[in-house]
Amino acid sequence: MATDSWLNETLYPDWGQRFLVKRELARVQSAFQDIVIFESTSHGRVMVLDGVIQITEADEFVYQEMLAHVPLLAHGAAANVLIIGAGDGGVLRRVLQHRSVRCAVMVEIDGEVIRLSKEFLPGIAGDAWNDTRAEVIVGDGIDYVKRAPDTAFDAIIVDSTDPIGVSEVLFTDEFYANCARILTPRGLVVNQCGVPFMQADELRDTSARRAAFFSHVTAYVAAVPTYVGGFMTLGWAAKDATLAATGVAEIRRRAETAGILGTTRYWTPEIHVGAFNLPPYIAEALAPAAAIIERR
Ligand code: SAM
Repeated sequence: MATDSWLNETLYPDWGQRFLVKRELARVQSAFQDIVIFESTSHGRVMVLDGVIQITEADEFVYQEMLAHVPLLAHGAAANVLIIGAGDGGVLRRVLQHRSVRCAVMVEIDGEVIRLSKEFLPGIAGDAWNDTRAEVIVGDGIDYVKRAPDTAFDAIIVDSTDPIGVSEVLFTDEFYANCARILTPRGLVVNQCGVPFMQADELRDTSARRAAFFSHVTAYVAAVPTYVGGFMTLGWAAKDATLAATGVAEIRRRAETAGILGTTRYWTPEIHVGAFNLPPYIAEALAPAAAIIERR
């Protein structure tokens, strides 16, 4: 009799989630990481990198909508967008939904993630790969930002793995200094900053680093079911402190103009504005960054 096979996430040594595996679809050791894609009985198809859940078909909309729509609608007229990581293509699809976007450059270090996502997770990116506004580059995000020209982008969206291994460079002073240089005066950068209940250092350290290069550093939250441990934080660093304070009515007006209103399952103008209201156990991680900006 076939025994059940389970995929146990190995993000935390002493706690975690597991998935009942219906069928394994791909297992590849790439030059950068161990990639597994499987069919689950509970969440559709799932991608795992080095034992850590990256994306599931069932709940990817939560994270991708909040990572793409919040910064672009807060900016209000983003034309040139840089996406780093995000090899599944979900952020690219959401960014290209915005009518204001003229060019979306995506820089993913691992070509195998893109290839396997196209083959086994086609619904995540849909036809974003073929959009003439999209430029997809297989390369290291730090090299790209070092070479990019000054003030080339309105927004930078970093959808990377946690700050260990290949993505460690995306959480460094050098990376953020270059992000500030290649962003326009109304430009901003957002990135996945982990689940503070389990990973508070990630938000604290990232925010403190960015406070040296940006005048407004904060975070917003999203409840992503398979990023276990409560709220996921999306780190925010902007040159203009008014962007994060844009009200519901104005965000709704912009979403209408952008062609986003009514197309989402998690993001709404109210959720957008409310997501910046942080519970104290998360807000306290931003104190070092606030102190650095105060002293500047
Ligand atoms: N949403 C997921 C999360 O929050 O954990 C991340 C998903 S996405 C698939 C992460 C991608 O970042 C991976 O495909 C990985 O290869 C890519 N990545 C990691 N380090 C990178 C780097 N230095 N430059 C570009 N892409 C990188």
